[in-house]
Amino acid sequence: MILPEEYQGINEEELTGRIQSVRDRLGAELVILGHHYQRDSVYNFADFTGDSFKLAKDASEQKDAKYIIFCGVNFMADAARILASKDQRVFLPDIYAGCPMADLAPIGEVEYAWTQLSKMTDIKEVVPITYMNSTAAIKAFCGANGGAVCTSSNAKKIFEWAFTQGKKIFFLPDEHLGRNTAFDMGIDDVVLWKKNTEYGGLEKGDVEKSRVVVWNGFCHVHTIFSSDHIRDARENYPDAKIIVHPECLREVVEAADASGSTEQIRRYVDKAPEGSTIVVGTEINMVSRLAADNPTKTVVPLFRSLCPNMFKISLNDLCWTLEKLGEVNEITVDPQIAKDAHLALQRMLDFGK
Ligand code: 13P
Ligand code: SF4
Repeated sequence: MILPEEYQGINEEELTGRIQSVRDRLGAELVILGHHYQRDSVYNFADFTGDSFKLAKDASEQKDAKYIIFCGVNFMADAARILASKDQRVFLPDIYAGCPMADLAPIGEVEYAWTQLSKMTDIKEVVPITYMNSTAAIKAFCGANGGAVCTSSNAKKIFEWAFTQGKKIFFLPDEHLGRNTAFDMGIDDVVLWKKNTEYGGLEKGDVEKSRVVVWNGFCHVHTIFSSDHIRDARENYPDAKIIVHPECLREVVEAADASGSTEQIRRYVDKAPEGSTIVVGTEINMVSRLAADNPTKTVVPLFRSLCPNMFKISLNDLCWTLEKLGEVNEITVDPQIAKDAHLALQRMLDFGK
């Protein structure tokens, strides 16, 4: 459903008042979660903010809330739905807010790849791990095959856990988080599985030698950052620290001073000394907020990059979802998919702390 006409063209002051009155009426029955990439007007309404791991955890802990509103993208709201209890209801204010990276790993293609992989190596020794940024069906596939979910804040811990379960990791869908995590662990036997290509474009020997097989998904918001941007930032701000998200290309992460999830980036900037300069390589709404929240520091974007899907959620959508609560924008997940995906998410919550 798209935003009805009656919710279009309302000014911010009126929307704010109307949203607040639903919150006042529902009190503890309503919880609003907001990812760091949300625009300020929406983010300011969040009871809990954070990266995708923190928000998944927050969602799973809101036992008193009847209604969970997830201001983020659909894979995050799906995860909240899977982790919530049966009598709780989860909503995404614009159900068309998706993630193009998650869509790069359709379940049919991944299952086919798994069948082909099983002809190239002992599949019992392969542990499928998916980044949170994936469909519920991919999470379910990992859960059903002894694997788990990870986020950018705990990928290393989940990789360590996976190597206690098998000899190789099949990592979906983000090539770059997969590579960056493996390199951080001193693993350089990483091979790329090319989607839509027979046997991923690999030879049996390539797979046999590797420890991590990465799917060739990527996030266009982060792969836009280049080593040239880092070089320019070092020239323009010689004393600055540079921190980037691990969805960035390997060479960008390597050239930066640090990398981390959005929550880890927020903490890094908050802890930086007064008067310092920090260059941040992630989504622009978050970088602008970090700059505003840290007036004694200079916080600049590595390059301006917006996530159009995160930006889809507006105050109008939030107002509509709250005033018509229960009638629009509810998230549902097929029960069998939810069961297996829960297993994969629970492993992340247990081992990825
Ligand atoms: P975080 O888990 O770091 O918030 O990342 C989510 C995301 O979509 C980054 O592009
Ligand atoms: Fe997906 Fe990239 Fe947007 Fe994150 S920033 S939600 S990975 S498109």
